[in-house]
Amino acid sequence: MALPARHHSRSRVNKRRSHLSLRVLNLTKCSHCGKMIPPHQVCPFCGYYKEEEVIDVFKGLTKKERKKKQKEIVEEK
Ligand SMILES: [Zn+2]
Repeated sequence: MALPARHHSRSRVNKRRSHLSLRVLNLTKCSHCGKMIPPHQVCPFCGYYKEEEVIDVFKGLTKKERKKKQKEIVEEK
């Protein structure tokens, strides 16, 4: 098995890992349903962008799921 030619110092390892930290997500409130969403993106929950429906989020849902989601959107407002 190959062996590293040189020892990596703790300093070198830490410098490499300084770029690995996670950043806090930047979120804004959806203008339609009020959920916290990433800015400049269609709301994945209600499918609205700038007060305009872009995606039909109820498509492909059963009647029961649709009713539940509709209730959640109304509650969030
Ligand atoms: Zn929304």
